[in-house]
Amino acid sequence: MAVKSLKKRESELASTQRQLEILSNGIFQSGELPTFANKIKETNQFPLKPKKIEILQINVGYMCNQVCSHCHVDAGPDRKEIMTRETMQQCLDVIEKTGAHTLDLTGGAPEMNPNFRWFVEEASKIGVKDFIVRSNLTIIRANKKYYDLPEFFKKHNVHVVSSMPHWTRGKTDKQRGDGVFDKSIKALQELNAVGYGMPDSDLRLDLVYNPSGAFLPGDQTAMEKDFKKALLEDFGIQFHNLFAITNLPISRFLDYLIASENYEDYMYSLVEAFNPSAVANVMCTNTISVSWDGWLYDCDFNQMLDLKVASNVKHISEYNEEILQNRNVIISQHCYGCTAGAGSSCQGTVA
Ligand code: SF4
Ligand code: SF4
Repeated sequence: MAVKSLKKRESELASTQRQLEILSNGIFQSGELPTFANKIKETNQFPLKPKKIEILQINVGYMCNQVCSHCHVDAGPDRKEIMTRETMQQCLDVIEKTGAHTLDLTGGAPEMNPNFRWFVEEASKIGVKDFIVRSNLTIIRANKKYYDLPEFFKKHNVHVVSSMPHWTRGKTDKQRGDGVFDKSIKALQELNAVGYGMPDSDLRLDLVYNPSGAFLPGDQTAMEKDFKKALLEDFGIQFHNLFAITNLPISRFLDYLIASENYEDYMYSLVEAFNPSAVANVMCTNTISVSWDGWLYDCDFNQMLDLKVASNVKHISEYNEEILQNRNVIISQHCYGCTAGAGSSCQGTVA
């Protein structure tokens, strides 16, 4: 598995331009497979338009204590992009004004931003309905200064959403790094100990599954049942929901697909599994994604491809919901990952 980010390795895929070229050329340029735009034209869903903005997803930095092989952020300890307090304040001003009911903090490991706790404290005062922090779990055990995170999350009624690719050590460590499974189990037990994930608890703890190779996720409901049974029996762990997410062919997962010579087969699987009814509810229809430096994107994936919103309003400092809602969503072939099978979003299936 990769131990450094694509950026650190100076891989050609560290260039978003190069990734977009790969996604546009080859089988899509030759017409062997339809482009995503042509595919959604068949069901009169082009151009893709957003509905009401309900979720603000804020990426507070690309630094992470892990270097997972599939990471679409290309995150890692060597990434230094971190949101400043000034940009956080601009986000807070927007959260207060907007009608968004969900605030979703992501990274990297968001907890590694030195202003993370300040931001959570301030944001929790605003009173959004659902305040999500995407925690990779191992950060809770990475250093003494993070040991009290379960209590901190509880204090601010944060909804914890965490990646857990499998209930076995081998599959988890293969995707996320040696030792990740054991630390994740310990962190989940600590979250349970303060009340997270218990059946009648308001302290929400959800897990995210994504496949460890070039295949699509199985049925979310069946997987949730299997995860719940195994984690409870083996480790006494409880959680609320499992979200099954499809890996999008960008960044380190694209690198993996190309290196393992699975790229074309994977794109075929995504296109064959295209589900027109998933298009109406893809993430970009109700979400705005904000990068560490305040730029606005249709989703976290477009952020990682540096595809800023197609709008006169492009930065959090000039946020205007009405203008943003009139835009067309920028799409490319990676979008097939959101519409395959039951669809895929940060909240799991969509169709
Ligand atoms: S924990 Fe998340 S952000 Fe960090 S490297 Fe893994 S997938 Fe990327
Ligand atoms: S990748 Fe982003 S822009 Fe494309 S369909 Fe998914 S959410 Fe929408």
